[in-house]
Amino acid sequence: MTNRTPYKRVLLKLSGEAFSDPKVKGGIDPSIVRQVAREIADLQASDGTEIGIVVGGGNIFRGNSLSATGMDRSSADHMGMLATVINALALQDALEKAGAETRVQSAVSMQELAEPYIRRRAMRHLEKGRVVIFAAGLGAPYFTTDTTAAQRALEIGAEAILKGTGVDGVYDSDPKVNPDATRYDEIAAMSALNQGLGVMDATAISLCMDNGMPIVVFELLCEGNIRRVVRGEPVGTLVTA
Ligand code: UDP
Repeated sequence: MTNRTPYKRVLLKLSGEAFSDPKVKGGIDPSIVRQVAREIADLQASDGTEIGIVVGGGNIFRGNSLSATGMDRSSADHMGMLATVINALALQDALEKAGAETRVQSAVSMQELAEPYIRRRAMRHLEKGRVVIFAAGLGAPYFTTDTTAAQRALEIGAEAILKGTGVDGVYDSDPKVNPDATRYDEIAAMSALNQGLGVMDATAISLCMDNGMPIVVFELLCEGNIRRVVRGEPVGTLVTA
């Protein structure tokens, strides 16, 4: 496997599940948040990588599961967005304790807790070496934080989206179900979309595809992986636009 391009500015997408113990499912496991935060802070300090982070909320609430219980979808999505803010604040605390300077920018105004999302200000923070955490998704129901990651990555001029997951890349079928599943080192976004491979939801992939944004899907909790991906080492799967 050949090395890839190293990145200077990235958008890291952390799903809500990245905040919880896989055995417990749900909630926030402080030791996991600390591990992820330490890796991000160390990378920022050593390589000067400009890091924006979109956090999910699925460990607390997901709009579509709540609405399946009869709740109005928009209200359920508002709860989902608030869940992402909870995760953002947990990550901010852990990052600051690990020595990083951070800002949380929320797409829903809550000025006591976070700055409003302002693109130019976010870019200025990145240039100054601050890690910027984007909370509350896009601030609108019926979207996901994967789509938010694609949109914010494009807006801030990130070179790639780094999607940290529980598996070490994109497979042709679910490796937890099929022991013969094979992992792609690289796959075109269109092909991933057509095959229904779980890279990101269709809206997010389309946005990346239409605008030339690559995605690297990699195993988040394998220590050192974020740094490896940023340095262009062939970790996980590169989804090309
Ligand atoms: N959400 C939303 N608009 C957005 C982003 C998120 O309504 O722009 C809501 C939606 O209900 C979603 C929840 O926030 O289910 C949590 O986000 P997501 O499911 O993407 O989190 P993840 O799967 O990454 O943990």
